Amino acid sequence: MRRVNQTARGFVFGVRVFHRLGGHHADHSWAPSPSLGEGRRSVTLRILVVGAGVGGISIARGLLRDGHDVVVFERRPAVQAGGGAVTIWSNGETVLGQLGVDMDGAGQVLSAVRILTSTGRLLAVLDLTAMAQRLGAPVRMVPRRTLMDRMLNNIPAQRIRCGFDAVRVVREDDGARVEFGDGGSAEGDVVIGADGLHSTVRDGVGAPHAKSTGWCSWQGLVELPDLAEKQVAQVIIGRCGNTGLWPAGDSNVQWWFDLPWSPDFVRPQHPIAMIRSNFIGWSDAVDSVLAALTDDDLAGSPYPHFRHPITHSGCGPVTLLGDAAHTMPPTLAQGANQALLDTMVLCRALSAFGSSDVLTALRWYEKTRRRNVTAVSRVASLQVAHGESVLRPAAIISDRLHTWALTTFLSQTSHRRMSEAIVRSRYAAQSAASCALR
Ligand SMILES: Cc1cc2nc3c(=O)[nH]c(=O)nc-3n(C[C@H](O)[C@H](O)[C@H](O)COP(=O)(O)OP(=O)(O)OC[C@H]3O[C@@H](n4cnc5c(N)ncnc54)[C@H](O)[C@@H]3O)c2cc1C
Repeated sequence: MRRVNQTARGFVFGVRVFHRLGGHHADHSWAPSPSLGEGRRSVTLRILVVGAGVGGISIARGLLRDGHDVVVFERRPAVQAGGGAVTIWSNGETVLGQLGVDMDGAGQVLSAVRILTSTGRLLAVLDLTAMAQRLGAPVRMVPRRTLMDRMLNNIPAQRIRCGFDAVRVVREDDGARVEFGDGGSAEGDVVIGADGLHSTVRDGVGAPHAKSTGWCSWQGLVELPDLAEKQVAQVIIGRCGNTGLWPAGDSNVQWWFDLPWSPDFVRPQHPIAMIRSNFIGWSDAVDSVLAALTDDDLAGSPYPHFRHPITHSGCGPVTLLGDAAHTMPPTLAQGANQALLDTMVLCRALSAFGSSDVLTALRWYEKTRRRNVTAVSRVASLQVAHGESVLRPAAIISDRLHTWALTTFLSQTSHRRMSEAIVRSRYAAQSAASCALR
């Protein structure tokens, strides 16, 4: 029999949650909801997810769909989506479709990315429409808040517990226990650390810490009603840094300015002046953004870039997902997409191996992801900022070849065969269900 925290009580669909009575979240008895994924599986795993970012919410969605008993613990008082917009590439959009997330009308579907030097020389135009045709899903810039709202749709509110700061994960004979900062704890068969860059769960499995790459992003969303091309994103590269302007739906534009950074970095009192001094004159659109921004718009920035060494990522019934497993620089805009791919593979693993062989399923998931995510992380870590002479040869390569190379890279690192099989079986299940209704 398991040791039980004497001062605690509570039961969540089989996932035990123990807490001090009288604490701010002492009541953990909830009625089951008929929403996403209730009661569709004969052997149900009790799964605890630490962290309610894109990774934590997506894996909760997938595992609830598959009939598991899932609870997400988030340290913040509410599920939050800070920091502008994200690019959801075809690989991520495909997984969102598998998870039943309705992305219709969300953000802005992009048709191209134009890459220029800081002196205005055109280096390449990536054809995102061609990429979408080949990979079967669009490339979309979507405000983080919109993405989270769409992903949270149909997840019963009681599955996400906010204000729970996980401080330790302890292995037990038949599962693992997550301990929280206020002295409470929860037990499950599996613990998934989706707690981001400085993950507590990652520390617990002994995986190495992330290292700074020496760069950072100042970024956010701005309204530009006069934006001429609402489907075309721009990246501009110079010797001292790079910048991007990516339409994110309506008049919103995601902007970023990447500059060097070090741990002894001292934030300037007026960062907008520093940003302007580096990027003014790079293009008319950049100048418009710089004119519109104030120091207040830079309040959440900068976001230093980190990269995890990708070694082992789990231990016993504990595994990692998303940034907790593989933080990478945002250069390829793949972090959230990679968290979605983790979700696809982990759900597949737990379904394929069955609940009786959970540890094999977790190790298979980690191994299957490691090779692909290592390749993506390596490319994302290549230095972007360069002088004109280094960049010029890129202009010799045709746009078709640039597009083909990126599309092939994404295709080969996104578990295409597994993804197609999942889409096919979902389609077959939906067809069977609609036949049964006739
Ligand atoms: C500047 C910048 C731009 C980016 N642009 C893109 C892009 O365009 N496209 C893209 O795909 N990716 C992008 N990324 C990467 C992307 O943001 C991340 O990869 C993604 O958000 C990771 O999601 P996650 O759920 O793994 O982690 P997070 O989003 O970090 O979520 C972790 C959650 O865990 C919670 N948590 C942490 N510790 C604990 C604890 N001890 N107990 C309980 N809860 C805890 C946190 O509060 C948080 O809610 C960008 C990143 C940066 C920095």
